[in-house]
Amino acid sequence: MFGIFELTQADPKSLSERALKLSEEAGELAQAVLSVTKAPGSEYKNHSLADVREEAVDAAIVALSVLAHASSSKEEFQAELDRLMGEKCAKWQEKVSG
Ligand SMILES: [Mg+2]
Repeated sequence: MFGIFELTQADPKSLSERALKLSEEAGELAQAVLSVTKAPGSEYKNHSLADVREEAVDAAIVALSVLAHASSSKEEFQAELDRLMGEKCAKWQEKVSG
């Protein structure tokens, strides 16, 4: 099975197109959340938490594809993903634990 790096290489989108796609998926996620939380004007769309989960994963996949596109090898992609996830989550943990 292809992973994110291989799928990104097999897909001819440009870096800009991937970034725009991420915006599109973020918009779909926002729409699902607005519907689920019954935000005024969005409650009629009838989205469920399953839709929110699906759109969150769509956005995560496209974000990872941007990371893959900006990496010169699968090894760099994986190393940067591990390094940056570790660093960013550690910062987040500092914030939430005060
Ligand atoms: Mg989507």
